[in-house]
Amino acid sequence: MRRIEGMRFLKKTPAAIPLVEKGNLNLSSLSLLERLSTESHASPAQNVEALNLTLGKSVAAAELELREYFNLAKKKRVITIEVDEETYQLWEDTKARMQEPKDRDALKKLCNTIAAPKREQTKVRQSPSARGAGIVLRRTLLKKAQYRCEFVSANGTRCESRQFLQCDHITPHSICGETAQNNMRILCSEHNKLVYQKFSCLRPS
Ligand SMILES: [Zn+2]
Repeated sequence: MRRIEGMRFLKKTPAAIPLVEKGNLNLSSLSLLERLSTESHASPAQNVEALNLTLGKSVAAAELELREYFNLAKKKRVITIEVDEETYQLWEDTKARMQEPKDRDALKKLCNTIAAPKREQTKVRQSPSARGAGIVLRRTLLKKAQYRCEFVSANGTRCESRQFLQCDHITPHSICGETAQNNMRILCSEHNKLVYQKFSCLRPS
């Protein structure tokens, strides 16, 4: 079954073939890509983006990211842990609070406080003077933009595009705009072009 799913994904996304040949993409990831791409009726461009998001990740981590990218419902899991009476009571109190909508994410927040410092250390620092956004910065920006173009038109509507997403410098790199999270945003190729043209008009020649 996984083999068939994998083959299907390769057929519609030829860019994946060399990655399989080089051993950068395994069968589990391929079948995951196929399942989620079919479920979300993804376009060929979205499949290529999904492929990039999958590389170098465990299947579980890739699934989390892909579900977010494709805007699919998050998978639910059951955890069973044994705790002492005191922890159990604390948990009951926490659970009661979590019923309130604003605290629904309490458990996630708690886990994040414990897991975050470790994750920080493994982050690769991006040089602000480099032009292109590295893979880590690109991922951060995509996540922040919820995998959608961040262009907002004059009447306040935000672009719906989830395709051909590019990292854009708000203050252009050519006038010393830094390649850093606070100077970057996600734009679809159309809006990236538009913004670039606008800027070129304003620039003194
Ligand atoms: Zn756009």
